[in-house]
Amino acid sequence: MNPEFVILESIQKAHGDIETRPISLHEPDFRGTKAWEYVKETIDTSWVSTAGSFVERFEESVRKITGAKHAIAVSNGTVALRLALHLVDVRAQDEVIVPPLSFVATANAVSHLGAIPHFVDIDNETLGMSCMALIKRMDEIAIRKNGSVFNKETGRRISAIVPVHIFGNPADIYGLKKIADSWNLPIVEDAAEALGSSLGGKHCGLIGDVGVLSFNGNKLVTTGGGGMIMTNSDSLASSARHLSTTAKLAHSWEIQHDQIGWNDRMPNINAALGLAQLECLNDKIIKKKQLFSQYAHAFAEYDFVELVATKTGFNSNHWLITIRLLEKDLDLLAAIRYRLLKTSHQSGLLLRPAWKLLSDLPMYSSNPKAELSTALDQVQRLINLPSSPQLIQ
Ligand SMILES: *Cc1c(COP(=O)(O)O)cnc(C)c1O
Repeated sequence: MNPEFVILESIQKAHGDIETRPISLHEPDFRGTKAWEYVKETIDTSWVSTAGSFVERFEESVRKITGAKHAIAVSNGTVALRLALHLVDVRAQDEVIVPPLSFVATANAVSHLGAIPHFVDIDNETLGMSCMALIKRMDEIAIRKNGSVFNKETGRRISAIVPVHIFGNPADIYGLKKIADSWNLPIVEDAAEALGSSLGGKHCGLIGDVGVLSFNGNKLVTTGGGGMIMTNSDSLASSARHLSTTAKLAHSWEIQHDQIGWNDRMPNINAALGLAQLECLNDKIIKKKQLFSQYAHAFAEYDFVELVATKTGFNSNHWLITIRLLEKDLDLLAAIRYRLLKTSHQSGLLLRPAWKLLSDLPMYSSNPKAELSTALDQVQRLINLPSSPQLIQ
């Protein structure tokens, strides 16, 4: 039988009988939550905008769940990343090290500050930034001068490293942190996809200097659109609050600003939606684990495909469960991939390949980059499966 049919059959076997089509990768679900009650309260009290008790309760809940000392809710994950990069002093014309396999926002947030994404390869197993590749690249191009690090090929300052926890699977963040420390570079963790993921007893996003979450519509928990800055640093947290609220000085009537700030705060109505779902986060994660193990079971017997597993000791929220096609012949691989995606869309199972590599997008194609062979190979093989927790009935 053709690989694509075996894969589609295995997916259906893992789900059991689900008639509703189409099934997309990740869909929000508010059943069994207090979402309506909370949102209604924001409307009834007319506290719908960027001040209001749900924002505080939502932040408090994220602090409890993640163990973060500070959590600052903002309007989406992209602005959270941009603000986080600004907080660690990324400036225009700096270079920031990012992995090529990520959602476009990782690189865009760097560019929004006028800085330049510099791509370093990923690890085969975690799909996050590779420690080996980072060490090698820094040795190749980085020099220290006057307490900063520079790319000796471009002359630009290198000012931060942004590991991404891809599909909710933790990157080897302790290893990456060690390398960053050896160069005295800050880490901003893109944990947009990783609410509920952890390693070494710490939640993703809290090993580096600042971490960000996203609450976009397709994430594990959604506020409609939203993001969060997490940090254990008091000073970074208070800067984040200040800069995300137009850098306005507290005063009963005077309207005074002391820096160029942003209007980044999350509205109360969105936080109400988010809080209602955080109350069910455990349940969602339990269902995700079960879905992952049902997929693992369904794919176990085939040698041409495998489920992307979480590294031993790492704890994933399984945001997007992913298969890896193992065909060695690249032409055959491309043919299987094409037929699989086409057949799946015809049958209403909306499988999706991983993103195109950021380093291949037109706006980033001439950016500085290391050798990216693992990312180039993996991006041809990775296919995301429908992963909504509600697929477990
Ligand atoms: C979703 C996502 C973001 C951006 O979040 P938005 O809330 O959509 O702006 C950033 N990085 C990664 C890896 C993401 O998946």
